[in-house]
Amino acid sequence: DPRINGIKTKIRVVPDFPKKGIMFQDITTVLLDPKAFKDTIDLFVERYRDKNISVVAGIEARGFLFGPPIALAIGAKFVPLRKPKKLPGETIFEEYELEYGNDRLEMHVGAVEVGDRALVVDDLIATGGTLCAAIKLLERVGAEVVECACVIELPELKEANLDAGESGNHDKVYQ
Ligand code: IMP
Repeated sequence: DPRINGIKTKIRVVPDFPKKGIMFQDITTVLLDPKAFKDTIDLFVERYRDKNISVVAGIEARGFLFGPPIALAIGAKFVPLRKPKKLPGETIFEEYELEYGNDRLEMHVGAVEVGDRALVVDDLIATGGTLCAAIKLLERVGAEVVECACVIELPELKEANLDAGESGNHDKVYQ
């Protein structure tokens, strides 16, 4: 699809952020370009509009940028999966491993129900640990996770991680 190359050119790669050796994929520059932003949303909407999805779950923070417009366009509810202690209501959580230490995602009890068909949205997949935690949260409350959608995949990081746990480079491939 010719739109994909247009989107790729709008992603800014910032070396050594947030620390030395990381090539950070910055999607805020996609948001600055209305056509690239719209093309990104449209590609997902075209893929998911006929899949009977009832909930789009966005991962904090950049899943909150792409998830809501997709949810509105396909007629699904939007549910934020948040970092610890941000949600005011009763929550359930899933922990996942980071390079150093753990983090967790929280979700409001009652936001997702048994039988909901879920799409998980984030900006980027590296090891997949964050998405796995999101899937577990949704499945625990009886939802079916239809698919996960990310703008960027870091395949070499994933392979490096399976190999030796090192950080690999940040070539991007779109799904
Ligand atoms: P994973 O859990 O290893 O798949 O890492 C994915 C998570 O880390 C996502 O929530 C991303 O937003 C974040 N992340 C990792 N590297 C980058 C990057 O280069 N740009 C933007 N987000 C990143």
